[in-house]
Amino acid sequence: MNEQFLKRMQTLLGAEYDAYVETLHNPPFRGLRANLLKIQPDALVKRQFASLSPSPFAREGFVLTGSETGLGNHIYHRQGLFYMQEPSASSAVTVLDPQPGDWVLDLCAAPGGKSTQIAARIGHAGFLIANEIDGGRARVLMSNLERLGVSEALITHASPEQLCPQLTGWMDKVLVDAPCSGEGMFKKEDQALADWSVEHVRSCGLRQQKILESAVFTLKEQGILVYSTCTYAPEENEQVIDQFLRKHPEMELLDCGVKFGRPGLSLGLVDGAKVRRIFPMDQGEGHFVAKLRKRAPQPSVRQRFVKSSPLPPAARDFFNDQLTEIGDLHFHLEQDRLSLMRHEFIQLDKIPVLRQGVMAGEIVKNRLEPHHHFYTSALLQDRFTKTVELDENQLTLYLQGLPLTMNAPRGFLCLRFEGYPVGFGKSDGAVIKNKYPKGLRTR
Ligand code: SAM
Repeated sequence: MNEQFLKRMQTLLGAEYDAYVETLHNPPFRGLRANLLKIQPDALVKRQFASLSPSPFAREGFVLTGSETGLGNHIYHRQGLFYMQEPSASSAVTVLDPQPGDWVLDLCAAPGGKSTQIAARIGHAGFLIANEIDGGRARVLMSNLERLGVSEALITHASPEQLCPQLTGWMDKVLVDAPCSGEGMFKKEDQALADWSVEHVRSCGLRQQKILESAVFTLKEQGILVYSTCTYAPEENEQVIDQFLRKHPEMELLDCGVKFGRPGLSLGLVDGAKVRRIFPMDQGEGHFVAKLRKRAPQPSVRQRFVKSSPLPPAARDFFNDQLTEIGDLHFHLEQDRLSLMRHEFIQLDKIPVLRQGVMAGEIVKNRLEPHHHFYTSALLQDRFTKTVELDENQLTLYLQGLPLTMNAPRGFLCLRFEGYPVGFGKSDGAVIKNKYPKGLRTR
């Protein structure tokens, strides 16, 4: 471990430094979160697939108490029933406290741990804008949102400076889970430890202030901003909030209103009792959380919506055949790709959009070729008219990408295991052709 880092931790922790050093020999805390869009936490526990104890950091979170490995390949993971997440990482969304119907911006969103938690809390009445500046990470964000069946979301790939001015005054809540020096990630990420230096910590602090400068204008009056990091350095935590409050008298620091972790440092305009710090002595690898509210009027830029596309007849026939109800859905067709969701589709100017809504499928030669997301979305999971329940052997074959020999209605079928969709196939009556995405197959 870096000597200079340890010295700083000694100054920060005082009498508790030895207890912190002890934790460095322990394996990292592991956890997962029930995806409330698909399953309630008690129903997930009843499935007895892992040793779980309730997490102190989120009502839908669990600490993994056993040594199970490979949970990322478990069928419930594939079905989007849970998300693997270090327990303290769920604390920021607990503090943000998104409510059903809220509009929420997650500005630094990949790989999507907090975005998926927000999407589940706001439900299908709320709307999430999940942004990630890094292209490769943005694709991982999209695949996680797809796996968890999120529909009411816009996934963008832009810098905060590009994106935020177009969202002025739109948001009930904003999360800035900022890129940081990752001092709480040293056990998991060798790179974070290798990159660590005091200069790096300071440059992260400057970048974090810049991100907050963009984020703040997207909030409505009374809107809530949560700032979080997975690092311990005051330069990236209380100092960033102090600088921000000096520039923004319209923002007030609120008490995080939670019991987990411990108070932070009182520094400048920051009352340490209001912010929250989590160290490994508090049952998580490490997090800092601060909650702020905008107490001034905020004019907003007008929301522009994509003109509703008339559904091509082939698509209308397909949806009427596959779903019990489509009256509450909006559709958007772009270059043969058809998306759907409950909200109207938003139009942004020159912002790369990875996805908006559910990717329903592609129009090919006057037919709709459905997409995996259509069959895994939580919005539609109880609306499929043609479903087949797989047994364990059929599931194994399906995940391998093999055809299933069985009598079934002709056409596209939603294939389920233990009541939840896994994916889809196309039946000719005797054999179901496998449509499980190649990249997800087990062989
Ligand atoms: N919220 C994510 C989650 O819970 O899964 C983790 C976010 S991670 C701590 C910070 C993210 O910020 C990274 O994905 C990183 O690519 C992104 N980032 C890096 N530089 C940035 C910048 N200048 N502006 C906005 N985001 C940035």
